[in-house]
Amino acid sequence: MAKHQVDGMTWPEVREAARQGRIVLIPMAAIEQHGYHLPVDMDNRACFHVCSEAARRRPDLLLNTPLLPYGFNEHNMEFPGTVSIRMDIFVEYLFDVARSYTRMGFRRLMLVNGHGSNQMLANLAARRVVNETNALAMALPYWCLNAAKFNAELRESDSPGGTAHACEYETSIYLALRPSAVDMKKAVKELSPKWSKKIWVDLVGGSSDVHFVDNYSRYNRSGVEGDPLRATAAKGDKIIDWVVDGLVELAEDFWKIPIKPRRNRQFRPHD
Ligand SMILES: [Zn+2]
Repeated sequence: MAKHQVDGMTWPEVREAARQGRIVLIPMAAIEQHGYHLPVDMDNRACFHVCSEAARRRPDLLLNTPLLPYGFNEHNMEFPGTVSIRMDIFVEYLFDVARSYTRMGFRRLMLVNGHGSNQMLANLAARRVVNETNALAMALPYWCLNAAKFNAELRESDSPGGTAHACEYETSIYLALRPSAVDMKKAVKELSPKWSKKIWVDLVGGSSDVHFVDNYSRYNRSGVEGDPLRATAAKGDKIIDWVVDGLVELAEDFWKIPIKPRRNRQFRPHD
């Protein structure tokens, strides 16, 4: 059985994984406050787990890599337990990690994000990989995977507003992965803001097309955005299973996209 995590490989084994054309998963998330009831490694634990599980299921297709544990978090710095990497540094760092795998000969990379505010930066890093190397890269938040199933079959919290941060969705995942570290007696419901008909946020229920993120401390008391009181470990088990399924399916699609040569149509006077 092929190894599914790069950490335990020797360099000839990494070379072989690149030769096989395996897709590199690069998980990234954050150390960030998650209310009174959840530990600050919520995003890291969830993101790494789904990537590692997907690669464990399909080591012929995927290779998982170490988690990037700190993210872009400036909006949440008034709460203890939050670390923020400046946005340009984050893009550069993520790009350098991704480019290193392309230099080993890997041609397809998935930047898998576990923390909302990283997403726009992960998108930029993926674009840079495509622009500046011969590899293809995509970026996605793990919660987009089979989110419709969650909304249709499991969701009990208000919509929009019941899922955003330390919410029904995230708390369920943590309860499934490490229940001893969750203190449900301290969980409080504090819905994510609906500023207007057109300006609102929900993690898995979609959001308006407007990008607007205010500083948390201006409107939020507990650090929760959503309804963790609706969370259960059983829901978490299902969410994780659906996300891992979704990640493998997406990777199968990505693997089929051909990497064609670029063809320069520019006028070149000295040819
Ligand atoms: Zn989170």
